[in-house]
Formats: sequence, C-alpha cells, structure tokens
Amino acid sequence: MAKVVVIGAGFAGHTAALYLGDELGKSHEITVINKYDYFGYVPSWVWVGVGTMKPEKTVFDLAPVYRKKRVNFVHGAATEVHPDEQFVLVEATVGGEPVRVDYDYLVIATGPRLDFASTPGLGPHGGHTYSICTLDHAVQARDAYLESVAKMEAGERQRFVIGTGHAMATCQGAAFEYITNLHKDLERRGIRDKADLLWLSNEPAVGDFGVRGVHVKKGETIVGSDEFLLALFEEYGIRSEVQRGVLSVDEDVIHWENYEGEYGETPYDFAMLVPRFLGVSMEFVAEDGSDIGSKITNPGGLVLVDAEYGLPYDVLKAKPNAWPARYQNPTYPSIFAAGIAFAPPGPISVPHTTPNGTQITAVAPRTGMISGIIGRLVAKNLIDMVKHGTMPHEERMSHMAAACIASMGDSLWDGSAATIIMYPVVPDPHRYPNEYGRDLFVSEMEMGLAGAWMKRMVQTTFMYKLQAKPGWKVIPE
Ligand SMILES: Cc1cc2nc3c(=O)[nH]c(=O)nc-3n(C[C@H](O)[C@H](O)[C@H](O)COP(=O)(O)OP(=O)(O)OC[C@H]3O[C@@H](n4cnc5c(N)ncnc54)[C@H](O)[C@@H]3O)c2cc1C
Repeated sequence: MAKVVVIGAGFAGHTAALYLGDELGKSHEITVINKYDYFGYVPSWVWVGVGTMKPEKTVFDLAPVYRKKRVNFVHGAATEVHPDEQFVLVEATVGGEPVRVDYDYLVIATGPRLDFASTPGLGPHGGHTYSICTLDHAVQARDAYLESVAKMEAGERQRFVIGTGHAMATCQGAAFEYITNLHKDLERRGIRDKADLLWLSNEPAVGDFGVRGVHVKKGETIVGSDEFLLALFEEYGIRSEVQRGVLSVDEDVIHWENYEGEYGETPYDFAMLVPRFLGVSMEFVAEDGSDIGSKITNPGGLVLVDAEYGLPYDVLKAKPNAWPARYQNPTYPSIFAAGIAFAPPGPISVPHTTPNGTQITAVAPRTGMISGIIGRLVAKNLIDMVKHGTMPHEERMSHMAAACIASMGDSLWDGSAATIIMYPVVPDPHRYPNEYGRDLFVSEMEMGLAGAWMKRMVQTTFMYKLQAKPGWKVIPE
C-alpha cells in the first residue's frame, strides 16, 4: 500500500488530492495536510475585499469532500519534512504533540509565504497597507475600504494606491482586478469623483502581469495588453506608475525606487499592495538532524524541481525546456511541488536592475489555472507510478494556456470583465517564431459584460468541481 501525502489544499494540492483519492483512495493511503479546514476560492477574495461578496460564499469545508474521496485529512501546518526517513511533522492545531505523517511520495503545494517583512511598513500585520491574499486579509481590506467610503460620503477626498508592494512581487492580475472593482464600486455608490485611483507596480509596462504582456492579432494589427489596459485606465480615470519597486511604507507615504534608480514617494489614504511571494517556511531535516533545506528549496524557500536553474535571462528566454515538466525534486525524487510552491527557473517578464543594483522584476506568476493543471499532472504521474511504476506525464508552462478573467464589478447587468487568454504562458520562440513567442491567433483579449457572466460561471463551476460533486472531472482545471 502506497502512502501519498499532499501538503496544502489550494488549487494545486486540492486538485491533486481529488485525483489521487479518486484513483488510489480505495487501496492506498492518501493524506492531505492543510493549515485551514476549508478550501478558499482565492479569485473571489477580490470581491470580498470590495465588500460585494460575503466571505462565506468563497469557502467550503474540506473534511466532507475528503471523506467522499477516501482521503485522510490532517488539519494543521506542516513544520518539518524528513526526506531521508520520509515523514512530515504537523503542528497540532489544539496544543499537544506534533503529528507524524509518513509518506512514500510527498507533494508540496503550500502556495506562497506572504513576505511582508521585506518591505518595512507593508501589510495588515503591524504595517499600514492592506492585502487580499488571504480571506482574513480581504475582510480587513474591505473594512478599511468601507471606512474610506464613509469619509468620501462625508465629502472627504481619498487617495487609493493599488499594485505591488515589493520590487520582486508577482500576482499583478489580482491587484489589477481589485483596482478596477474599486472603480466600479465607487461609481455605483456615486462617489467616484471623491477618489484618486493610482496603479503602482513593478511591471515594465501596464498589463505586463509578469508574463511579458499579452499580444493578440486583430485583423492585421497586433494589440498589446499595455495599450488595451492603458486605454481602460484612461476611460476609468485611473493613473498609473510602473517600473517602481516599493521599498518601504509609512503611515501615509509609500517609498519607492524606479528603473532609473531615482527614489520617490507616493502619498495615500488606502493602499492594497501585493507582497513578494516566497516559499512557505518548513524545515527540511536529514536523518542525522542536519538542515538540508538547500537541497530541496532555493534561498527563497520555493521547492527546486526538474527545471534548469541559473540560466541568464537571454538564454532562458530562448530555452522553454528549461521550465519543469514533472515538478519533481532532483535530490529527493519522492518529493514533488505543485502550484506557487515550485521554484521557477527565472522570470518570464524582462528583468531590470537599477543603477543602485536593485532588481525590479515582475516575477513569473503561477495562477490558479496553472496551479490546478500542475496539481493534476503530479497526481496523474503518482497514480501511474503507484499502479504501473512509470511517470509518463509531462507538461511545461511553455505548453500551457492561461485564461484570466479580470472582473470590473460583479454585477451581471452592468458589470464587465477583461477576458485575456494566452498561449503558451512561457513564450516558445521555436514553435512561435514571432516577436512574442506566442500563438497570436489563440491569444485573445476581449472586454464586456459576457466576461462578467463568465467570471461568475467559473466560480460556480469551480466550487462545484472542487467539492467533487458528480461529473467533477469533466470540468477542466
Ligand atoms: C486575490 C487574488 C485573486 C486571484 N485571482 C485569480 C484568478 O482570477 N485566476 C487565476 O487563475 N488565479 C488567480 N489568483 C492566483 C491564484 O489564487 C493562485 O495562483 C493559486 O491560489 C495558487 O494555488 P496554490 O495551490 O499554489 O496555493 P494556495 O492557493 O495558496 O494554496 C496553498 C494552501 O497551502 C496551505 N498551507 C500553506 N502552508 C502550509 C503548511 N505549512 N502546512 C499545511 N498547509 C499549508 C495554505 O493554507 C493553502 O490552503 C488570484 C490570487 C489572489 C491573491
């Protein structure tokens, strides 16, 4: 009987667990360890942070789903992995001794550690800014936003700054969706004229999203996401400042450095800035008790997998096969990493170093869709490994498509959304020898009410699928 343990029940880990439970649950031991006892549908936390969706609509309990799929569930945070002896230690949730969970195969799908600490003054825990990266954070952001709303209703002007809170941050898509939702909500409340909205980001250009932007062919013309979204910002009256790495935040001022190495300040009343994402802190302990973290993770704590690391950007750019295919740790082949937890070989977006030596680079995103696809791929390989001793499945991000629906308001009557599809996520200049390394016919950008319907539909179908209701497998990641 094989023992497969998954740490983390987000898009990557939970997807992996459903497939593993479905195929192996009857005869093998599948265990999920998760810090929370619920699954959180992260994309809808944008709406929670604006106050247009109730938090409870974005979550469901994990235990009943896992019971159905014959998956054991351990509620708690994994603190130590012992790769030589193949077990994980889990911090007990209500006091007591740590729980030991043995494995033959381990999937690390712990998502990001929100690294507020690298930007002094950033974040809701003792800092001055807000975040929508966890459900608690989104609720706090909502409450602070509603305080600003009350001030505007009383005639006071408010300055909103939304974007990235570190020079090496990622996840610009979520922040972009937040600023457009704020705009729509303020309009709906009739107080948009009392608000200044500013997009502040480490991207080389608006709409880069850490993927070098998206380009689509419209007739004979190529339209880039920079033009597309700048036009939208203009229509919405949103100002933008890009190529800025936030260094620190005071109570009413954000301090940054730009591409040219100049230092500047941006005043604000309410700021939601996404922190840098690092790997979750877990100790990796050898049989002799020594720390072997460097064999398993990069210095940022993201798990090393079958990627080619250390390539200069220009070499990596021309080598899509440097991106991992199986998400397997080379030193400990029984360890896999899925979703944000795996270490990418480098950025997709063009990196930049300022004359002062500060790196300002939009780091490669691993979105919910990508995380789900990787979770399924890792699960499929483990299922084949357990059943047949082989791991036939491979899929690099240079062969994955990504669809992003950035909502602008959640109304099904007058809401809107930018639907952006790109293929492949990691450009492949060999298969697509154009300037962008992507399929310009498959890549698409559209704006309209249909997107708002689609965004709602995606949430409903995903919440259905991820609860493993009948036919769940038919719904793609
Ligand atoms: C506000 C917001 C909106 C977004 N919108 C979209 C969108 O519209 N479309 C899209 O594709 N992507 C979107 N994303 C990105 C998407 O949410 C992430 O890419 C995705 O959640 C990553 O999945 P994951 O499984 O790797 O990590 P996570 O979803 O973060 O899951 C990791 C899980 O591991 C648990 N965990 C962490 N450490 C431990 C530990 N030590 N022990 C046990 N458990 C642990 C965490 O509690 C969590 O449950 C959005 C992100 C944000 C923040």
